[in-house]
Amino acid sequence: MKFELSPELTQMRDALRKFARAELEPLEDAIDRTGELPPHLLPLLGKHGYLSMRLPVDVGGAGMGLFPYCLMLEEFSRSHRVFGLLASAGGGLTPIAIARHGSAEQKRKYLAGLMDGSMRTAFALTEPAGGSDNSAMTTRGDKVAGGWVLNGRKHYINGAHDAHFIVVIAITDPVKRTRGGVTAFLVDKGTPGFNVTRVDTTMGSDVIKLAEIEFADCRVPDGAVLGKPGQGFDLAKESLRDGRMAVSCSCIGTADRLLEMSAAHAKSRVTFGKPLAERQAIQWMLADSEVDIAAGRAMVYQTLAQIDEGRDVGTAASICKLYCSEMVGRVADRAVQIHGGMGIVQGYPVERMYRDVRHYRIGEGSSEVQRMLIAKDVLKRA
Ligand SMILES: Cc1cc2nc3c(=O)[nH]c(=O)nc-3n(C[C@H](O)[C@H](O)[C@H](O)COP(=O)(O)OP(=O)(O)OC[C@H]3O[C@@H](n4cnc5c(N)ncnc54)[C@H](O)[C@@H]3O)c2cc1C
Repeated sequence: MKFELSPELTQMRDALRKFARAELEPLEDAIDRTGELPPHLLPLLGKHGYLSMRLPVDVGGAGMGLFPYCLMLEEFSRSHRVFGLLASAGGGLTPIAIARHGSAEQKRKYLAGLMDGSMRTAFALTEPAGGSDNSAMTTRGDKVAGGWVLNGRKHYINGAHDAHFIVVIAITDPVKRTRGGVTAFLVDKGTPGFNVTRVDTTMGSDVIKLAEIEFADCRVPDGAVLGKPGQGFDLAKESLRDGRMAVSCSCIGTADRLLEMSAAHAKSRVTFGKPLAERQAIQWMLADSEVDIAAGRAMVYQTLAQIDEGRDVGTAASICKLYCSEMVGRVADRAVQIHGGMGIVQGYPVERMYRDVRHYRIGEGSSEVQRMLIAKDVLKRA
């Protein structure tokens, strides 16, 4: 099913696909084998302007909307999940939050490096006490003369092990807690009392690493507060809608590539004297994946267009994230089935993608959390 995009978005999507085919796809196998990113990759994305698309023009970005940014993630995620994650460094919570809420000094210190790919960051909200229920977090920031002292532990923080600085969300008013008692801090690598205590590889590609970090009497200056004290939870929530749309588009990109590979394999693989593509059992799997992807694209593209028009989309981002993260799991499962043994052999993209897409149902709010939000809205309307 073909979706009509505006001429500008069509041109952009074509350029992104060309770039991804030429520069990203050739790297995907090596990245999966070694679990390492080539050092030139992030600066390359920076050079092409992919890390600054959404940042406002006054800080050196391109000032684009969410739709083009999400199209970029869709195209990059056709290749490897990590490319979408890397590109989202430029439009993810941290750079946007610094551009919107940061002091002049914070903008000067961090934004240029994030946009040109010389600097990496991570966002630390989840902790052992508070995952889906972030309001149960226990990491604290206590006010002292001239600054704050942080104590606590965060885990599952993507990329924290090699970040130049981290955004940390901490309770600064134990009475108000998430109602104005949470603050965001920018903590530089090497700050005494801030340590990476563990790095986990995940069931997806080894290149995606989640770190545990610890703050033990970690002292930061007043200038490390992002936004105002007490604004941290709102700041984190501000990015949720866009983060969910970003995940939805990444799922569509991966699903699309899986379907493309499945169809190609079905045409070339002959069993019992005929190509798989001539068997109804296989055709039905291809058809179901096509319908799944088309439904996801329809809801995601419509929601993105409405967001860029400045409309309130309610729970649409949760609906998109829930549907697309579960949809790509179904498409990946069918792709493995169509490929047979080749679908479970390591080093083949289908096997890698099958593992990688499982993450999508947990990060950026799990499927259950999305269902809770959607159901709450349904019940409010009843
Ligand atoms: C790939 C990946 C990258 C991540 N990167 C980051 C990052 O960079 N920074 C960061 O801060 N966090 C990150 N996370 C953490 C992620 O946000 C949490 O894993 C997620 O919020 C779930 O929290 P939890 O793991 O503590 O699970 P829990 O909250 O313990 O939930 C366990 C299960 O119970 C379900 N559940 C929980 N409450 C309910 C309920 N009330 N009703 C029904 N079911 C419920 C959940 O949906 C889940 O299935 C990342 C996670 C992944 C997978």
